[in-house]
Amino acid sequence: MSKLKLGCIADDFTGATDLANNLVRSGMRVVQTIGVPTSPLAADVHAVVVALKSRTIPAAEAIAQSLDALKWLQAQGAEQIYFKYCSTFDSTPEGNIGPVTEALMDALGCDFTIATPAFPDNGRTVFKGYLFAGNVLLNESGMQNHPLTPMTDANLVRVMQAQTTRKVGLIDYKTVAQGEAVIRERIAALRTEGVGVAVVDATSNDDLLLLGPALKDMKLVTAGSGVAIGLPANFGLKPSLQASHLPAARGLQAVVSGSCSLATNAQVAHFKATGRPALAINPASLMHGQTDAVVHQVLTWAAPLLKGGPVLVYSTAEPEAVKAVQAQLGVAEAGALVEHALASVARGLVDLGVQQLVVAGGETSGACVQALGIAQLQIGPQIDPGVPWCHAPSSSGGVHITLKSGNFGTEDFFTKAFAALP
Ligand code: ADP
Repeated sequence: MSKLKLGCIADDFTGATDLANNLVRSGMRVVQTIGVPTSPLAADVHAVVVALKSRTIPAAEAIAQSLDALKWLQAQGAEQIYFKYCSTFDSTPEGNIGPVTEALMDALGCDFTIATPAFPDNGRTVFKGYLFAGNVLLNESGMQNHPLTPMTDANLVRVMQAQTTRKVGLIDYKTVAQGEAVIRERIAALRTEGVGVAVVDATSNDDLLLLGPALKDMKLVTAGSGVAIGLPANFGLKPSLQASHLPAARGLQAVVSGSCSLATNAQVAHFKATGRPALAINPASLMHGQTDAVVHQVLTWAAPLLKGGPVLVYSTAEPEAVKAVQAQLGVAEAGALVEHALASVARGLVDLGVQQLVVAGGETSGACVQALGIAQLQIGPQIDPGVPWCHAPSSSGGVHITLKSGNFGTEDFFTKAFAALP
């Protein structure tokens, strides 16, 4: 078996698939593991993405889990480490992007790394250190209302500096446009100034491809999924379609949505407008130990409908409704309650024969994948930028599952996804 080239640590499950998707499209064979594996790597792949659920847990726990993942990846021979976070840089002043980056740098004995969530294919661009989501700054994009990681500042140098003791600098678009040699000169200059982490501008895939070669000997790269398109070439790999082959799809279809992001709200509205069956879960109904009863009601509703086509179960709500629930239950408690309920619903749906499952929401996906006992995913064809179909093998034939990050996907994602399966 060849040595592992890239060892990746992703801070949530949808993000892990997003990264794996970009690596597959750039020519790498990729396996995504759910959590840190307990045994050595069995598959012959170029890259492994270890999916953690560490984006919003306490920083110390996120560090411990990330270091565990690092140790396992190093034991598999990984030549380079990639710490993947959200393309909207989801974090708080406590972390976890800064603290985890710093811990990985310490463990790798590395005094310089980059940080850029740029993902132009999905409208995430970084210009003069400011992150844009589509045509607006991050803090005007809806992300300022995120239930767990509200992003109220688009200046990533400032955002990163608030989370790390390392000095943060910038490699701007003019430098990136001049390619490898000039980027390397800038890195050398920043190091002399004592900078440990540099935010990098990128407004197009071309920028990311220019950046790639300059990252060749960097022990640690930290980024969204975009930077990944420039790395496989450093290992002599070229894009090929073979890597994305999955078994044929079978079974019933369902969508479970716990994302409250703008795009997901539009996707839920679109699904309902097509007249397909959809059922909302009200977080307040889950209080006082009522989750099991609610899950039972949802599954009783879904059971007879499934044979007619996909059903949707959602907690997706507009920002005002989310804020009202959070005021009543607390932010973390509301999130955990809803995630637990939706994960139980996903489990129940699979027990009812669902073998094609769309999950919307990063945290929600993490909870669902854990509830389904999925340990490893093979990465398949892309549905929309950042969102591939995956296949989780099992003795009963396995499940095709796609983990959609909140703001990803076109409005008709919940219906077109099923049409995209072989
Ligand atoms: P995204 O990918 O859009 O960020 P996530 O699933 O990561 O979506 O995060 C959404 C969080 O909001 C989860 O913790 C989820 O349980 C919680 N949540 C979902 N619906 C509601 C709601 N109606 N009220 C309050 N919190 C909710």
